[in-house]
Amino acid sequence: MAKIINVVKGTKDILPADAPMWQRLEKNALEVFSKYGYKEIRTPIFEVTELFARGVGDTTDIVNKEMYTFEKSDRSLTLRPENTAGVVRSFIENGMTRLSPPVKLWYKGPMFRYERPQAGRQRQFHQVGVEMFGVKEPAADAEVILLAVNYLKSLGLNDLEVEINSLGCPECREAYKNKIKEVLKPEFDNLCDDCKNRYEKNPLRLLDCKVESCKAIFEKPEIKAVIQSDFICEACAEHYSKLKTYLDELKIKYIENKLLVRGLDYYNRTVFEIKSNNLGSQNAVCGGGRYDSLVRNLGGDDTPAVGWAMGMERLISLIPPVEAKKLDGYIVSNSPVEAFKLAEELRNEGFEVEFDLQNKKFTKQLEKASKVADYALILGEDEIKTNTVSVKNLATSTQKSVARVNIGSEIKNV
Ligand SMILES: [Zn+2]
Ligand SMILES: [Zn+2]
Repeated sequence: MAKIINVVKGTKDILPADAPMWQRLEKNALEVFSKYGYKEIRTPIFEVTELFARGVGDTTDIVNKEMYTFEKSDRSLTLRPENTAGVVRSFIENGMTRLSPPVKLWYKGPMFRYERPQAGRQRQFHQVGVEMFGVKEPAADAEVILLAVNYLKSLGLNDLEVEINSLGCPECREAYKNKIKEVLKPEFDNLCDDCKNRYEKNPLRLLDCKVESCKAIFEKPEIKAVIQSDFICEACAEHYSKLKTYLDELKIKYIENKLLVRGLDYYNRTVFEIKSNNLGSQNAVCGGGRYDSLVRNLGGDDTPAVGWAMGMERLISLIPPVEAKKLDGYIVSNSPVEAFKLAEELRNEGFEVEFDLQNKKFTKQLEKASKVADYALILGEDEIKTNTVSVKNLATSTQKSVARVNIGSEIKNV
């Protein structure tokens, strides 16, 4: 026997039994996002590497350690590690900057990061996300947060915690960055290697370090005082306070978290995360924020933007399983030609119907019907002669003879 080939480490098949969950996530996304006027966009899964270096930020782990990059015809290409950069590239390239704002887009699909595989974290994973372009007002921030909450609720995730923070604008953040660097300077040697690397390039990123010894440093009173200090300028403070007013009015409960900085370099002003308390443990299910400089940094006209992404594997692990639907009918017959015809008649009327392509024994077919369908549609010699079908409700075992012409309208009444 030939050697079997296995799926690549960190990737997974989505098997037919799991597909209904994915279909539910995708169907709800289309339904909920459409209500708010968002249109789906599908961009390629690979892009030129430079897009992510410039778009995601070259101080991030994603760009430094986790990208699947390959060469083809002297071009460096990368499997997308996230989709905001690709959507922004398409937005600029297709002249969407000239459309009257807001431009509201959503996407779903696979992303690729070379991370150590662990429970719930894969190298090929899937995200669903939204991006809104052209609106600098905090109403846009509020809308995308509301949209995320309502999408999660549509999936049955009701026990949610929204965390928000404002990172300020490049101007007011500069002073804050310097203060953070200054107060952490005496501790520099005690920081982890990642923090040491980020210290010069992007000191704010230190704040979401998950290493315990770093977290302990940030808890020291004199350091905590600087981290927790109000640094944002008047304009940023007004934006933030209006956002909070919207959230209050919309009855979205939130917690302000100064340590929330998000793993990506491009955010400014609003950042947020949503956690779900479903299934007893707390899980981050959504992350996003405002990125007003990204379109310009990628060569487009100055365009404010705000968006979020959710990991679909995480969502699936939290929502109740969706049972695969049974067939409406399974035809039991020893005349494959007649079974074919009846199946087609019913399929044309919208029913999901199968019959035995192998023409097995009647009893075998009946057994199969009871496993896979709601109704057995018995088409024996008598039924064929009299132009009828014996319809058996497999849940109640009631059986009724129905004229063939009426089968479509009668089947569910048996
Ligand atoms: Zn500011
Ligand atoms: Zn650290």
